[in-house]
Amino acid sequence: MCGIVGAVAQRDVAEILVEGLRRLEYRGYDSAGVAVVDGESNLTRVRRLGKVQELADAVNSQDVLGGTGIAHTRWATHGEPSEANAHPHMSGDIAVVHNGIIENHEELRATLQARGYVFTSQTDTEVIAHLVEWELRTSESLVEALQKTAKQLEGAYGTVAVDRKDPSRIVVARSGSPIVIGFGVGENFLASDQLALLSVTRRFMYLEEGDVAEITRRDVTVFDATGERIEREIVESNAEHDAGDKGKYRHFMQKEIFEQPTALINTMEGRISETAVITNAIGVKAEEILRKVEHVQIIACGTSYNSGMAARYWFESLAGVSCDVEIASEFRYRDFVVRPNSLLVTLSQSGETADTLAALRLAKEKGYMSAMTICNVAGSSLVRESDFAFMTRAGTEIGVASTKAFTTQLAAMLMMVTSIGRLQGRINDEKEAEIVKALHELPAHIEQALTLDKEIEALAPDFADKHHTLFLGRGEFYPIAMEASLKLKEISYIHAEAYAAGELKHGPLALIDADMPVVVVAPSNDLLEKLKSNVEEVRARGGLLYVFADQDAGFEADEGMKIITMPHISEITAPIYYTVPMQLLSYHVALIKGTDVDQPRNLAKAVTVE
Ligand code: GLU
Repeated sequence: MCGIVGAVAQRDVAEILVEGLRRLEYRGYDSAGVAVVDGESNLTRVRRLGKVQELADAVNSQDVLGGTGIAHTRWATHGEPSEANAHPHMSGDIAVVHNGIIENHEELRATLQARGYVFTSQTDTEVIAHLVEWELRTSESLVEALQKTAKQLEGAYGTVAVDRKDPSRIVVARSGSPIVIGFGVGENFLASDQLALLSVTRRFMYLEEGDVAEITRRDVTVFDATGERIEREIVESNAEHDAGDKGKYRHFMQKEIFEQPTALINTMEGRISETAVITNAIGVKAEEILRKVEHVQIIACGTSYNSGMAARYWFESLAGVSCDVEIASEFRYRDFVVRPNSLLVTLSQSGETADTLAALRLAKEKGYMSAMTICNVAGSSLVRESDFAFMTRAGTEIGVASTKAFTTQLAAMLMMVTSIGRLQGRINDEKEAEIVKALHELPAHIEQALTLDKEIEALAPDFADKHHTLFLGRGEFYPIAMEASLKLKEISYIHAEAYAAGELKHGPLALIDADMPVVVVAPSNDLLEKLKSNVEEVRARGGLLYVFADQDAGFEADEGMKIITMPHISEITAPIYYTVPMQLLSYHVALIKGTDVDQPRNLAKAVTVE
């Protein structure tokens, strides 16, 4: 979940390491630490509870000298966030950082204690440090000790070790958590995400599952899971350098909300002509597979799950292909039936979501026709392990609460649905042209929706002092309500729930009173009249209504009902469009509540643990 950075250089690396951590802080952020070794084998370890800035201040206030180092920002899984539990962990001369979970840590701890090792933290990670120290006693090299250690570890990890006595190298193992190696000139680096290293290099090598590598200033040596030496490809990255900059915005989340028109343009670029979706642009194998797919199984977590739920309506209504959507952590632990010609689609912003990745690996054994991922991070595990990947091009998303990744996923799925429908004869040229036109118009409409910012800001005080909120929608707008409620929960800490509006009378109506704002997503479509009846049900019970309504929907504001008028747009892309004012609403409520918008409590960005 957390961030790892490592370096072997001639110059002092503390600053590079801390800067790398800063860029990864959005992933996990309860404590941070660094260990640096100089040429004389002096090791300095600094750890701090709290944000990377605390660590940066501590590092600046003392001499942390040396060209070899490892650093970590932690999202605690075992043991509370504290300085003692912060990484790097040490055993004798060995310092270790670790991303992920060691599932058999209790067993290993008992064995190591029997050997006389004394534990100073409650983390699962500390067993790695002691194991490496133990194995090194009978190994020829640090990398061999790490290989032996890796064989004993169960769970998911990316882990890096350094030996104070030999500052010329760092070693790293990857199993379930991503590690990328960055190549410099006469210096080399590693990190859990290339973002951390963009200020020092553009040349990267991604480790594969089971790889163990040794990094010195001049060389990188990789061994695969069987211990064989192996060459991995080095790729040049063109990721944005300044993605870590908020620019004129107060928060990354705000910046990312406002970036959505551009993110959508990028996601659609080269993939739609004036009137058609270019199927080949979805993936090399896409046409052959989309032509014969009879069922789509979407697997995702969190916001990505909500986008899958919304797209399900399109798969069935536009492409005529049955579609199920399931939460990855549920899917991976149940016996499921694979239908004939079934396509597995995983959705994830980071491409490292542990449950989704596990579900993909499991599903590959179970005979799906093909496994596709819709993902925002090139080179991520999901991308590498799927048969083909359709990349959203949202750009780096840093705010923990996902925004542009959601809307670009929806745009990607709408393109995919259109291709399937056409290839299978359920969407004719005219319909395809209508969908593609709606996609072309969408960025400008979203630009327009963003101008509602001030109006929405004015509503926020009504929510900020409430404890609960209800979001209602029907059809494909029900998942949009789900996503809206998730955003509000994540960043304002207000309990929010989404209901399919028709379900109100089956229970939630009992909750309605003047302390429960009810937000309604009300585009003008076939379900409008039904939705209006549901709104009346709330009104009749004294509920406070906030209706985001199409200009032609015919709602009238009065006491207890505020209307936010949305310019009319195509019904097809309206779910993407209605997402935007909901994001703005959560953002403004969170601002009033004074929460940490970009790094809400208890959450992490790329959920690389189960
Ligand atoms: N499981 C380790 C811990 O609790 C690492 C967590 C992380 O990935 O940050 O310290």
